[in-house]
Amino acid sequence: MRYIGAHVSASGGVEHTPQRAHSIGANCMQIFGGSPVRWSAPLPSQETIKKFQEEREQWGIEKVFMHAPYLINLASPKEKLQTLSRELLLKHGKIADALGVDGVIFHIGSRGDMEQDKAHAIIIKALKKVLQHTKDTAILMENTAGAGNLVGDTLEELTSLYTTIDDPRLGICIDTAHAFASGMIHDYSTKELDIFFSEVKRGVGINALKAIHLNDSKTEAGSRKDRHENIGEGKIGKERIQRFVQRKEIKDIPPILEVPGFDNEGPDRKNIDRVISYVT
Ligand code: ZN
Ligand code: MN
Ligand code: MN
Repeated sequence: MRYIGAHVSASGGVEHTPQRAHSIGANCMQIFGGSPVRWSAPLPSQETIKKFQEEREQWGIEKVFMHAPYLINLASPKEKLQTLSRELLLKHGKIADALGVDGVIFHIGSRGDMEQDKAHAIIIKALKKVLQHTKDTAILMENTAGAGNLVGDTLEELTSLYTTIDDPRLGICIDTAHAFASGMIHDYSTKELDIFFSEVKRGVGINALKAIHLNDSKTEAGSRKDRHENIGEGKIGKERIQRFVQRKEIKDIPPILEVPGFDNEGPDRKNIDRVISYVT
């Protein structure tokens, strides 16, 4: 069995999410652990945790990731925002531990005018603290599309942060649309993917790659713009996405769809069926 996942809405409570994922044909999922645009997030009650775990079991959801709020900017030039960001990421790590999910995926943030070395020092300190105060969940840095001095638009940068922090619970999530927009993977040719995966192996190691955000892109390679498109409908396109998902290096890594959906209601069965058809 191959993993296939999607971001699903947690409206009404996380306990509703496993059924939602199952209803579109997913066996893995991503959820928000709280409002994506608020600085606070409550820990789930014991009752919610129990219900969530029962539902997850019932609907056969193998891997679950939480996406942290977009507000997080660990490298903000504003100290106040650095602190709030670190605390909010830590809170999500604690929610992930409480729910027993596999990892928290987050965007590192924009360093603005701050020098890279200085920004990295701040990020490293924050992530060490988050790792120190969480137990089991993986903490996964997502690559970005790259506009506005966003941290994490190259494999080198993610690798440098990863190897400096040196913690088995730290990992990465590669978003195919962001990789295309940033130029990290700009043509998805076999040759380019050979190089990409050998750099992943040499850098963080394939074990640190815990999730894939599988999205097509509305914008061109190198555009540095983050606009997701349905699978096979965008500028990456069927052939290149297929070449990527067929790579043996990621056969056990769940692809999670964050696509607009054909009815604009988020990831749907049609997108999932496409990915399944690409790998079978
Ligand atoms: Zn993300
Ligand atoms: Mn993503
Ligand atoms: Mn995006």
